[in-house]
Amino acid sequence: MSKKKIRYGFHLSIAGKAGVAGAVAEAESLGLGCFQIFAKSPRMWKPRNLSPKEVESFRAQRENLGGIPAVIHASYLVNLAAEGELWDKSVFSLADDLSKAEALGVEYVVVHPGSGSHQRIRQGALKALSLAGGKTKLLLENTAGGGEKAGNRFESLAELVKDTELGVCFDTCHAFAAGYPIHQDPKGVIKELDEVVGLERIPVIHLNDSVGAFGGRVDHHAHLMEGKIGLALKQVFTDSRLAEKLFILETPRSEQEDAHNLGVLRSWL
Ligand SMILES: [Zn+2]
Ligand SMILES: [Zn+2]
Repeated sequence: MSKKKIRYGFHLSIAGKAGVAGAVAEAESLGLGCFQIFAKSPRMWKPRNLSPKEVESFRAQRENLGGIPAVIHASYLVNLAAEGELWDKSVFSLADDLSKAEALGVEYVVVHPGSGSHQRIRQGALKALSLAGGKTKLLLENTAGGGEKAGNRFESLAELVKDTELGVCFDTCHAFAAGYPIHQDPKGVIKELDEVVGLERIPVIHLNDSVGAFGGRVDHHAHLMEGKIGLALKQVFTDSRLAEKLFILETPRSEQEDAHNLGVLRSWL
């Protein structure tokens, strides 16, 4: 019997000359089992073109790695609950990421729901999917809360995805900041997530520690074992209910920081 390998990876940069293909090369050199990228600058509306060469190289390199799963994180400017022009821009930006995912063969696109009505957010998400076509799965990410942000409670996520093909991305830092005691009772939080949303809806987990305090609603990621959640994240990472999920770290990167985070993950396995 072969033991299932837990898939983990980083959010990687596409800023180098090789663009998106550079991320695959980096995933390979770091020995990652999955990875996440932005398909364009996450703080600008301007789209970024993918050259046919870049697409081909991305696909070929991923194929060489056994087709490791990948995720595109949508722009931070997107607010699917907005009205008027901002809603249009948000939907088009998200549709652009979904189209790029389709071209690249990327399985998932993750987006923050936005601030405002659930109905509007669902409408925007479904509109982006229908504009893009294809079979990429769109995941709404839980948020740290604050303001009128949707998706900070599990009930809110459940309502957003109900009776749709939409999925959920679970961020441990955001849940902690939103008041879920993942530092004290990780198993209980996962149980609640399963009961309210359903783990089958959640293929991707952002495994971030938190700089901000418990329930503080601050979205500020810490390196593993350097934040307020600490060792409890090991219980999330190794939970048998989550064995099929992709674990992505979204923390600052340098050679040293990579070595630290990979060292912690490998020591947890
Ligand atoms: Zn996010
Ligand atoms: Zn996240």
